[in-house]
Amino acid sequence: MFADPARVRVAVRLRPRNAEELVADADFPDGVELQPELKRLKLRKNNWDSETYQFDEVFPDTASQKRVYEVVAKPVVESVLDGYNGTVMAYGQTGTGKTYTLGKLGEEDCADRGIMVRALEDIMADTNPENDTVCVSYLQLYMESIQDLLAPERDNIPIAEDPKTGDVSLPGATLIQLKNYKSFIGLLQTGEANRVAANTKLNTESSRSHAVLLVSVLRCFHSFPFSFRFSSNENGSRNSRAPVIRRSKLLIVDLAGSERVDKSGSEGITLEEAKFINLSLTALGKCINALAENSPHVPTRDSKLTRLLRDSFGGSARTSLITTIGPSPRHRGETASTILFGQRAM
Ligand code: ADP
Ligand code: MG
Repeated sequence: MFADPARVRVAVRLRPRNAEELVADADFPDGVELQPELKRLKLRKNNWDSETYQFDEVFPDTASQKRVYEVVAKPVVESVLDGYNGTVMAYGQTGTGKTYTLGKLGEEDCADRGIMVRALEDIMADTNPENDTVCVSYLQLYMESIQDLLAPERDNIPIAEDPKTGDVSLPGATLIQLKNYKSFIGLLQTGEANRVAANTKLNTESSRSHAVLLVSVLRCFHSFPFSFRFSSNENGSRNSRAPVIRRSKLLIVDLAGSERVDKSGSEGITLEEAKFINLSLTALGKCINALAENSPHVPTRDSKLTRLLRDSFGGSARTSLITTIGPSPRHRGETASTILFGQRAM
């Protein structure tokens, strides 16, 4: 999916019909028709008319979690292991499968596991605790405020930017060093429980905030097996055998439900919430668009979300966007708006 790395790669994934849709929409075809082999999707406008869209990948409702991971996330994970930053994001209406695609937990060989756990499994398998350090933070971005899901008392975490390198960091966020893959599952569970508790306290729903998993990878390559010993010898001279340090990060972002943007008020969402979701998703759309047009200016300053992503998309970073849609013909409007968002990157 990554011939031209600067552009955001976009995939569409169709959720299978749920029990309710199987009954209620039994007499109606899905709102979309997929042509996975052509990487195309037809959006049915009515019984006789449809519009066709091209993507980098189109996943039918039978696509496995493994395949979605391999196409959408694995190339990003591999480039993070090679020292580049990367981002995987899921965008779509609430209930279309963003969290299933990214955050679904499960036992080690469970076929249902989502992108987060598969990514960490690959990262832990490829790194070596003697030379490499893998750390994770887990955050929620709600109404332009960043909350720490691993330490819920930490709220309003500022985003720091190195003025020289442009590196983005969150000095106030908990950063936990991973010992193994199992400890990661525990962290995600803690983060999820904290997210539910925090949202209950705020009287909101998780679909109104963005969840961000940040994985930092620090790798140390020895150009010579004993380079550390050589580089710290008596005269302290640096030599060409000094270890090479590579730092990179992976962001996995479960975006707020995109439907709220147009439908404020109708489902109990407050105007304030709708305003902030709109602000960040619009800002994200503008950045994706700028990257697609090879524009020298990517407007990342407009929201906390895009400021957080600043050094993890565009340039040498690789970014994948998976847009999720539901099959119901009743949600055609939402499906169309998700598809159009994805098209901005093409
Ligand atoms: P979102 O995070 O976009 O609101 P969820 O991931 O919570 O949506 O998905 C809504 C429901 O649909 C969940 O019960 C989830 O398990 C189910 N679901 C979503 N995508 C799939 C899929 N590809 N296969 C099977 N079930 C799915
Ligand atoms: Mg969700």
